[in-house]
Amino acid sequence: MPRFNLIGSGLAGGMMAAFLGRRGHEVDLYERRADPHAGNLVGGRSINLALSTRGIHALQQLGIADEVMRHAIPMRGRMIHDKSGDLHFAPYDRDPNKCINSIGRGALNTATIEAAQRYPNVRVHFNHRCTGVDLDSPAAQLLDTSTSQSVQASGDAIIGVDGAFSVVRRAMQRLDRFEYSQSYLAHGYKELTIPPAADGSWRMEKRALHIWPRQSFMMIALPNPDGSFTCTLFWEFAGPRSFETTKTDAEVHRFFGEEFPDAVPLMPALLEDFRENPTGSLVTVRCGPWHYVDKVALVGDAAHAVVPFYGQGMNAAFEDCVVLDECLAEFPNDRAHAFAQYFSRRKENADALADLAVHNFVEMRDKTTSSAFRAKKMLDHLLEGVLPGIYLPLYSMVSFTRIPYAEAARRAHRQDRIIYGSLIVSMTLILALAIVVFLSAR
Ligand SMILES: Cc1cc2nc3c(=O)[nH]c(=O)nc-3n(C[C@H](O)[C@H](O)[C@H](O)COP(=O)(O)OP(=O)(O)OC[C@H]3O[C@@H](n4cnc5c(N)ncnc54)[C@H](O)[C@@H]3O)c2cc1C
Repeated sequence: MPRFNLIGSGLAGGMMAAFLGRRGHEVDLYERRADPHAGNLVGGRSINLALSTRGIHALQQLGIADEVMRHAIPMRGRMIHDKSGDLHFAPYDRDPNKCINSIGRGALNTATIEAAQRYPNVRVHFNHRCTGVDLDSPAAQLLDTSTSQSVQASGDAIIGVDGAFSVVRRAMQRLDRFEYSQSYLAHGYKELTIPPAADGSWRMEKRALHIWPRQSFMMIALPNPDGSFTCTLFWEFAGPRSFETTKTDAEVHRFFGEEFPDAVPLMPALLEDFRENPTGSLVTVRCGPWHYVDKVALVGDAAHAVVPFYGQGMNAAFEDCVVLDECLAEFPNDRAHAFAQYFSRRKENADALADLAVHNFVEMRDKTTSSAFRAKKMLDHLLEGVLPGIYLPLYSMVSFTRIPYAEAARRAHRQDRIIYGSLIVSMTLILALAIVVFLSAR
């Protein structure tokens, strides 16, 4: 059986190791962080994430979906908070059972690593930082940070599951004709907390993703099982009102008082959180190909980091694992072909998701407050009911089905053209009829 070395045991690394372990491959998984069981969780990254159908399907393939979902909180829709504190609830789907699920990054990460460790042929090495990759061997150079010893990991293939700033991808960037681009949003993000009420309960509706849309920026909050909410402020790095210009406690307090007055009383540690929590950046990475012959492949954010506004980065990374596993099973004797198939099945979908995610930022921060947007959502749900199986809103296709992202985007575009086209034709006909009636009545 081939021997795989995986670099990075974030959300997708543990899952990929579990898939490979299940097929009987020899797997060594190297992670620069300490063992999350020792309480060392992903600092500076989102504490909770929205897990939806694609991610759940991947977990089901490994038989760990039920166990993971026990820690999840279903969110049925968006709870919009306007500046006066008024609330408006917009369900995600006409079927109230279709939810996205708030799940802790740490719990999920631990579950996938444990799933991998159930296979005796999978070994996980924490405190191992990859410093470089020799693509042709293929071999990874690692530093064991607990002993300061250098280690070389050789095998048949390396899989880079080492996130948006992948060291494995960096080695591939030196290859002739390797495509690479990265682009940052002008916005950064900062995490803040709404703690539980004194009796341990949630201080806002728990089965919703809360949004405070403020046109050019927004804050969101997802519930945690302990009764708290993790809030994320997405705000411009620079500009007259921005992270750059809002530094002192008084400035932060004034900004939150003006923009999120209903949230401030729920955030007793606001000033401390704002001061101490890092401001993260939001990057989109596109590259290709995602493999080097039969020796190296990229999975998850290492291949396609997207901004978080569709809540799909991790779901897409999990879907990568499913597809790569399928390709390796389909072409067991030709790994180069399996890698190439994996790339060709995923690339256009990753690109489509990158566009959808940027577009959804504008929708969440700006359009969710408009009555035209709410009317469109109601029309979406109405049409879905009247035309079951024929009309599916884009959000539902992305979050509640496994229709490939690119196909979902194309289908939504076609649907919009037909619906808006029909609306324009009907309005024109009604207007023409009204004119005829008016003229003939004179
Ligand atoms: C604010 C925010 C909110 C998000 N919300 C959602 C959401 O709601 N839903 C969703 O689906 N997605 C969400 N995402 C996206 C999601 O976090 C990523 O898509 C997901 O983490 C990708 O998983 P990954 O395993 O590819 O990368 P990561 O989770 O980044 O894992 C990479 C791992 O590699 C390790 N590593 C890196 N370099 C090295 C090295 N040199 N040597 C050894 N190890 C290394 C890292 O320590 C890490 O453990 C969000 C992202 C952000 C920033």
